[in-house]
Formats: sequence, C-alpha cells, structure tokens
Amino acid sequence: MCGIIGYIGVEEKATNMIMEGLSKLEYRGYDSAGIAIFTPSGICVEKTKGKLVNLADHLAQIGFPQGYAGIGHTRWATHGEPSDVNAHPHWSQDHSVVVVHNGIIENYAQLREELIVAGDTFLSDTDTEIIPHIIARYYREQKNPVQAISQAIQRMRGSYALGIIFKDHPEELY
Ligand code: GLU
Repeated sequence: MCGIIGYIGVEEKATNMIMEGLSKLEYRGYDSAGIAIFTPSGICVEKTKGKLVNLADHLAQIGFPQGYAGIGHTRWATHGEPSDVNAHPHWSQDHSVVVVHNGIIENYAQLREELIVAGDTFLSDTDTEIIPHIIARYYREQKNPVQAISQAIQRMRGSYALGIIFKDHPEELY
C-alpha cells in the first residue's frame, strides 16, 4: 500500500515536512519513494528505489531542496518494476504538471497508446505516468487546474487517489 503526502506552508519547510510525513507512512510497506518540491528555480523532483533512507541520503548529497510546498510518495508497484524511473512523482511531457498516485488506472494502456499517437513519449512503465500527460493536455486548453483535473478523471477508469501540483500555481496543492 502506498502513501501520499502534500504540504503547503509559510516557511521553507516542505522537504522536511514531507520526508517526516513519508516516514510515518513507512509501516504501510513500499518499494521506492520520491518528492516534488516548489523551489525558487522551479519544481524539483527527486526519487529513489528502496527505503526512505536512500532518498534522504540522495537529498543530502545533492543538497536538500528548499521550498514552501510540495508532494511526496511511497510506492507499492503494480505496473512496472520497483526502480528510480518508475518511482513517483511523475511529470507531464511539458513539465507543467507533477503527480503522485495511489491505486491503479485500469485503462492506462489504451490512454497511453492514444497519447503516443498524439506525440507524447513516456519514461516509465507505470500506469501513473499517463495521468500528468492527460491533465497537462487539458490544462493547455483553458489553463484551469480544476477543469483540467476533472476532464482527465473522466477519461480514467480504476480506483485511485492523487496528489497534483502545477508549475504555474506554486501556492496550490490538488
Ligand atoms: N499503480 C501505480 C504504480 O505502479 C501506483 C502504485 C501505488 O499505489 O503505489 O506506480
């Protein structure tokens, strides 16, 4: 069972708060972990296979991203092996939308095929990666996050929970 956490606050504590939240979700079981943080230079996504300590070590090496908001995930793989690439968060093709996901998108293969025909490329083997791609396509049409998410959800079958951030909306978590 995976875990999702989101944080938004007034101080630049997002990475610490999200890492602490993920550690409280460890008991649920997971195979990889990742975070996406709004930093002054854009959204920073970091993810690693294995235990949370691997992610913490990686962040210590590259320098903890500092930010006011972000999302985090512990993954229990259903589609695609446990790996750095398959770990969440996942980006949209244009890097405007970042998603963490708990659950399964049953019709992901069909949606992925449609997106590939439309010109998208995918980096992971997950069902999840289609989600930011679809949301970003709708978002480009009317620049409204809520509308884009609800249009995307109408295309997806399955049971799932999502955490979503938009590059253009650094003060909002969905
Ligand atoms: N189906 C997604 C995956 O395999 C999410 C799994 C989960 O709930 O952690 O990446």
